[in-house]
Amino acid sequence: MIKCPVCRRMFINKDRVVLDIYNSITHQDCFTGHVSTIKDFSSYSNIINSYSIFADVKSPTR
Ligand SMILES: [Zn+2]
Repeated sequence: MIKCPVCRRMFINKDRVVLDIYNSITHQDCFTGHVSTIKDFSSYSNIINSYSIFADVKSPTR
């Protein structure tokens, strides 16, 4: 499971999140980095399913 590095809460699928160029995920509301470091933003479930780097954090029942 991945936690938000800012608020330390576990992400849930419907959370709106930011994926930055370092491949770290932060809530959109928690993100304080520069806009130029944003790689993608969507719901947590969308991000996890769109990038193979997160394959090992996917639910086994996908
Ligand atoms: Zn957060």
